[in-house]
Amino acid sequence: AFHAGNSVLGRYLDALVAALSGIDAGEVATYIPQLGRADPSDFGIAIVTADGRLYRAGTWDRAVTIQSVSKPFMYGQALTELGRERVLASVGVEPTGERFNSIVLDEQHNRAFNPMVNSGAIVTASLLTRATAEAGAADMLDLFSRLAGRRLDIDAEVFRSEDETGHRNRAIAWLMLNSGMIEPEPDMVLDLYFRQCSVLVNCADLAAMACTLATLGRQPMTGDQVFSPEVTRDVLSVMTTCGMYDYAGQWLYDVGLPAKSGVSGMIMAVVPGQIGLAVYSPKLDAVGNSVRGIEVCRTFARDFGLHTCTSA
Ligand code: GLU
Repeated sequence: AFHAGNSVLGRYLDALVAALSGIDAGEVATYIPQLGRADPSDFGIAIVTADGRLYRAGTWDRAVTIQSVSKPFMYGQALTELGRERVLASVGVEPTGERFNSIVLDEQHNRAFNPMVNSGAIVTASLLTRATAEAGAADMLDLFSRLAGRRLDIDAEVFRSEDETGHRNRAIAWLMLNSGMIEPEPDMVLDLYFRQCSVLVNCADLAAMACTLATLGRQPMTGDQVFSPEVTRDVLSVMTTCGMYDYAGQWLYDVGLPAKSGVSGMIMAVVPGQIGLAVYSPKLDAVGNSVRGIEVCRTFARDFGLHTCTSA
């Protein structure tokens, strides 16, 4: 279990940043041109505990786009609005073992494999579109803001960059339209998907969002019940099996926490009942996970004995 006094934890995080900032491996993502402008030396960590305390170190306040870390939250909202049965008809819960942007679909069930890969996230976005693109974007931003406990916004340039270069995501959406997996209007669906990826967060925001998942859907600072305990459990389950791209199996083996990473270099991890953790460092390994981010989570989980399969 998690035992650390306040100042102890703050000092621990400072020491962790110092100890791991020598790691220089990996590459900043450039396939979305705007992401290539990240500062490779940035390295931040934040933790929010179930009692609403915030601990942070390094460049924790750098605002970057949330990218794929948006996926679990949209999935939770789809479950909230439509229920499990309707959502499961469109997107399953099986890991693909394929790249995050792969074009494989679950042909047997005529649905996407899981909501953590792009195809499944695009289906999930299709379930959350509104009458207009503006209304869909506004509801998505309201949701993310409630989870973070403060007003968030979209990085308009990253959004435009995603929209201009997202040909592969466009191909996935039209393929799913063809097989009846999404309703018409792929353009509106993609608009919402690109916008959800472009929401700006810093490590403190993301740690608060992660902690909301740790505390059965109740935002630890505002007390807002954003998701039900049942929905939160479903979200964490899919994060556990599918959250770390095609590294998910090894991640569970080594670190043992529900988590989600994104190509901007963010990783969020959840210690159920206890804490939300967010790490930012933009250099990615070949799979697309932040190299230092993985190392932070591995070290932290080991030092505090947090692997979910060993908790008493
Ligand atoms: N917007 C990115 C894409 O769909 C998100 C990818 C990611 O973070 O995994 O390509």
